[in-house]
Amino acid sequence: MTHHIAHHLTDPLLMAYSAGTLPEAFSLTVAAHISLCDECRARLGAFDSIGGEILENGDVSQMAGGSMEAALAAAKCGAAAPVRPPSKAGILPAPLQDYVGGDLDAVGWRPVGMGVRQAILHTQGGATARLLHIKAGAAVPDHGHRGIELTLVLQGAFADAGGRFARGDIEIADEDLDHTPIADAGIDCICLAATDAPLRFRSWIPRLAQPFLRI
Ligand code: ZN
Ligand code: ZN
Repeated sequence: MTHHIAHHLTDPLLMAYSAGTLPEAFSLTVAAHISLCDECRARLGAFDSIGGEILENGDVSQMAGGSMEAALAAAKCGAAAPVRPPSKAGILPAPLQDYVGGDLDAVGWRPVGMGVRQAILHTQGGATARLLHIKAGAAVPDHGHRGIELTLVLQGAFADAGGRFARGDIEIADEDLDHTPIADAGIDCICLAATDAPLRFRSWIPRLAQPFLRI
């Protein structure tokens, strides 16, 4: 049973990842999605080769006419898809297992209330990565964002105004999106979330707890 991934990384995120300019929390989330998604891995391969060409020639305008389009088109056909990395069995994708030092049983969860537990991962560079464990049917309090939030689903699913997100799907939220993600009934939802600024919670109780929870 393979879930078809419906929500993907954007080209700017893949380009920044390829160029190595993302904060660690974001590169980890991008790497985790790529390890689950053939389509984004193929597009990354195209950006990697374009980046290499720019480095060699010093200027993108020196690239042979249409070669960027050609590389992207090849990626879409899967022609440039690199070999699938060896995957360790488990809920956490390999890049995350390296961070956590194992699979879910190695995660140090802390309750944050309302059926939600989290584990903050040790990353540098001004952005924060955390694992979220949302009880089946529970909601993450309604909030907006000051910066960008990437949320990658690892188990179960959640739904909000942006659609439904299941394993492998990534939601990209910014200042324009207020949302109340609600986990599907039946199975607890586990996500990896990266944020580059504290979230703005709508109701006062979570806001009071914000400084203590580092969310
Ligand atoms: Zn993808
Ligand atoms: Zn959010």
